[in-house]
Amino acid sequence: MQIAVLGAGVIGLASAYYLNRAGHQVIVVDQHGEVAAETSFGAGGQLSYSYVAPLAGPGVLTKLPAWLARRDSPVRFRPSVSTEQWLWCLKFVLACTRRRSNLTTRDLLALSFASRALMQQLVRDEPTLDFDFRRSGKLVLHRDVAAMRGAIDLLDFQRSLGCEQEVLSADECVALEPALADVRARIAGGIYTRSEETADCHRFSKGLEVILRSRGVRFSMNTHVDSLEFAQGGHIVARSSGRTLDADHVVVAAGAGATRLLRPLGLHVPVYPLKGYSLTYPLGPHAIAPALSVTDYAHKVVYARLGDRLRVAGMADLDGYSLKPDPSRLAALRAETAGLFPQVAAGDAGATEWTGLRPATPRGTPIIGPTRYRNLWLNIGHGALGFTLASGSAALLAGWINGRPDPSLSHLFMHAQ
Ligand SMILES: Cc1cc2nc3c(=O)[nH]c(=O)nc-3n(C[C@H](O)[C@H](O)[C@H](O)COP(=O)(O)OP(=O)(O)OC[C@H]3O[C@@H](n4cnc5c(N)ncnc54)[C@H](O)[C@@H]3O)c2cc1C
Repeated sequence: MQIAVLGAGVIGLASAYYLNRAGHQVIVVDQHGEVAAETSFGAGGQLSYSYVAPLAGPGVLTKLPAWLARRDSPVRFRPSVSTEQWLWCLKFVLACTRRRSNLTTRDLLALSFASRALMQQLVRDEPTLDFDFRRSGKLVLHRDVAAMRGAIDLLDFQRSLGCEQEVLSADECVALEPALADVRARIAGGIYTRSEETADCHRFSKGLEVILRSRGVRFSMNTHVDSLEFAQGGHIVARSSGRTLDADHVVVAAGAGATRLLRPLGLHVPVYPLKGYSLTYPLGPHAIAPALSVTDYAHKVVYARLGDRLRVAGMADLDGYSLKPDPSRLAALRAETAGLFPQVAAGDAGATEWTGLRPATPRGTPIIGPTRYRNLWLNIGHGALGFTLASGSAALLAGWINGRPDPSLSHLFMHAQ
């Protein structure tokens, strides 16, 4: 079958990979000249399989007023007149129950564990892929005793779902990650997950592109899809500059762009952009920088070593589709880095700044699977976990399109909420 994958981010490319392996003729379509030019470009580098609990959780609503009042808070909301934004917020609030959050965590863990196995298989199958992939282990730091207690409670729940994690004292954190020595006094403890991995999402995407091209997958770059239309025979077709893109099936993997593409078909998917920021610090040969993947839980900032660079990422701003960076958010991220890893920030002149839009759903679950149109499929809404969940989501989708869903994944289809 001929399949057009709309979107050349990590989700579209991974979808193309599994569809090509299943023997389909695939064409990847994107409005940019390069793959992974949007959200998959500067992501945090975390393959964070055990940390998938959604932002919408029972504790969030009580924290929100404090977050919204502070300029440097990890989450920020700029109200607009957009009903899309308000509806998203309403659904987010409704998802902030313990029951919903636990169900989402359970589903996402199942998808992320499948993704981990598939990513490791992909790394074995594709030895030419070079993307700073490392089993780095992840240390989540907590600043106070109350936060540490909450983390231990969650750990019990996560353990019941198959996560293997250890509770560490502040001294044990520093012993494991010596780059934290300067801030020992400000750490209450941490949770260590040995099995977590880190890698560069952009390099992964570029590497997949090379593999896909070598296997006959075609790319139509610099092609903006203007609309999806209902054609004769009940088919959906993609149209660009007055031209119809030839395909039997269409997969929408357009990240934050999906909502606007799907709306004219009457498909109202709750995917809305959550703007985030990253900084990439070049590291000299003697840099005192973390080797482990580190998360500062209170500030929701993640640190990942990518070869000779340190990627720092964080902030979640609900303020529409603009990619315009807010200098105060970047300054806050720099200040966080200086607070935790002063030696890295000291050489900060060369840090590269980046802004991206997480394609977020209110519950935190992606939307993967069929639509009411029989040749139109979705692989969207991966929020803060697109790199982590890319391989599982893509294999899940390919299995469904092939009519042979993987029995270990088939119960996981995630439909528009
Ligand atoms: C600051 C930050 C840190 C992050 N850190 C992590 C992390 O550590 N780990 C993790 O797992 N995830 C992380 N994420 C999330 C992850 O980056 C995203 O979930 C993922 O990149 C989404 O991939 P995507 O392919 O869906 O979207 P994108 O990468 O945005 O790709 C969508 C593509 O669709 C194309 N497109 C859209 N509309 C059209 C159209 N009409 N016509 C043609 N082309 C179109 C776009 O040009 C784009 O190339 C982070 C995100 C941010 C912002």
